[in-house]
Amino acid sequence: MKFGGTSVEDARAFERVARIVRAHREREPSEALVVVVSAMSRVTDALLQSVQTSASGDVDDALRALEEHFARHKSVAEELLSEHARAGIFSALEDSRKEITEHLRALASHAAPRPALQDEVVSYGERLSATLLASVLKEGGVPARYVDARRLIITNDEHGCAAPIFEETERAMREGLGPLLERGETAVIGGFIGSCESEKTTTLGRGGSDYTAAIAGACLDAREIQIWTDVNGVLTADPRLVRGARTVERLSYAEAAELAYFGAKVLHPKTIQPAIDQCIPVRICNSRAPEETGTLVDEETATAPRTVKAIAHKTDVTVIQITAARMLGAYGFLSALFEVFDRHRTVVDVVTTSEVSVSLTLDDASALSSIIRDLRDLGTVLVEPRRATICVVGEGLRDTPGIAAHIFNTISDINVSLISLGASSINLTFVIDEARLGEAVTRLHAAFFDEPRLQISAQTKVLSTASDTSV
Ligand code: ADP
Ligand code: ASP
Ligand code: MG
Repeated sequence: MKFGGTSVEDARAFERVARIVRAHREREPSEALVVVVSAMSRVTDALLQSVQTSASGDVDDALRALEEHFARHKSVAEELLSEHARAGIFSALEDSRKEITEHLRALASHAAPRPALQDEVVSYGERLSATLLASVLKEGGVPARYVDARRLIITNDEHGCAAPIFEETERAMREGLGPLLERGETAVIGGFIGSCESEKTTTLGRGGSDYTAAIAGACLDAREIQIWTDVNGVLTADPRLVRGARTVERLSYAEAAELAYFGAKVLHPKTIQPAIDQCIPVRICNSRAPEETGTLVDEETATAPRTVKAIAHKTDVTVIQITAARMLGAYGFLSALFEVFDRHRTVVDVVTTSEVSVSLTLDDASALSSIIRDLRDLGTVLVEPRRATICVVGEGLRDTPGIAAHIFNTISDINVSLISLGASSINLTFVIDEARLGEAVTRLHAAFFDEPRLQISAQTKVLSTASDTSV
């Protein structure tokens, strides 16, 4: 069971988590249970900011800004713990404050490489929330034990976005958690953090606690991986953009993975792979409304009532178009092109090609100026900043005619700068100006989820004639 930052934002939220865990243990008393928890909401942002502030020389300022967050942990302990347990948390907070101070001073004096120190500082968010949650659970009668996740998740040394080394992690998980789970204790670990072979702390990338839960589930052959968050599962669109977004009850692994890759923040993009590898169902539930069924992600392939399951989007996307007449009939061009992105360690998201040009999107444009300089050796480069990708996902897209026509008719007055269809047969992705994102997603959502007349269903497919095109 993984609980995200908003599920542990304050004392009331910790109480809700304790109730959910206790109810589960009562329902399944003989089942082993691992609880993965994120840092309390906003704490990771605050720790990252403290690194930034210290690196520019102002450690005192950085520490002052963290006080509010130490106080939040303290107040959860004061509200929910007995005197003895409270003392344990207070001393953990005091130790953390001292250690963080030392790390921030080291950052200010450039005494050690920043990425490693940054991971070390940021890890306190998850270490403290997990220590606190284990205490709250124990206080509520659950035999819980905090285990430092850095002993369990073994990664490479790519600080900030470390990749787990699966064999070593599996061994560490089984050795580190097996005996206590067999004794009937509930293990509580921080998400998002790990350590590399040199025993330095690493982190798995923002939002990485979901990934920790999936890795733990896969290593321990879990019956189910549960992601507890602040909404009723995966919704038909981002609820911050579409007020009427509804819960999708069932998704295939492939659908969930596409939605996560293309921006549905409710799942970290790497969460699904470990679950697929071990065929473990993933359930997304709401810690504020545990009675709701949420979303179940599994192998399901049966025809769903709706062709389109959900719409995901990403903002702040940059489109680059490279045009080179010499690409015509030549080989080696694409490899030279992608080598540029390789060199600048930049991930390319969506790609389309024509005879003489390639268009692609970047999420991370931090190396953009150097990339453009290198690309100019290959052809004419055009850059479009502030774009958004919209991704329409559903297994039904595989073989339902008319979907693309329906999508582009719905937003026919909005300029579409790049379309990718068929790379994955279950998604259609396209790029528009970010300023028109809200209206585009709202209209598409209405067209696919609110207007049954317009819904292109599996039945339409059966009735369609040979003259239908599939796009
Ligand atoms: P947690 O702290 O539990 O990890 P996140 O903030 O990472 O939670 O993810 C949950 C949030 O993801 C929701 O509050 C919602 O705003 C956002 N979100 C974006 N797209 C979707 C979607 N399709 N379904 C559900 N939530 C979504
Ligand atoms: N606390 C980390 C973050 O904010 C990891 C997570 O919440 O999943 O990115
Ligand atoms: Mg998250």
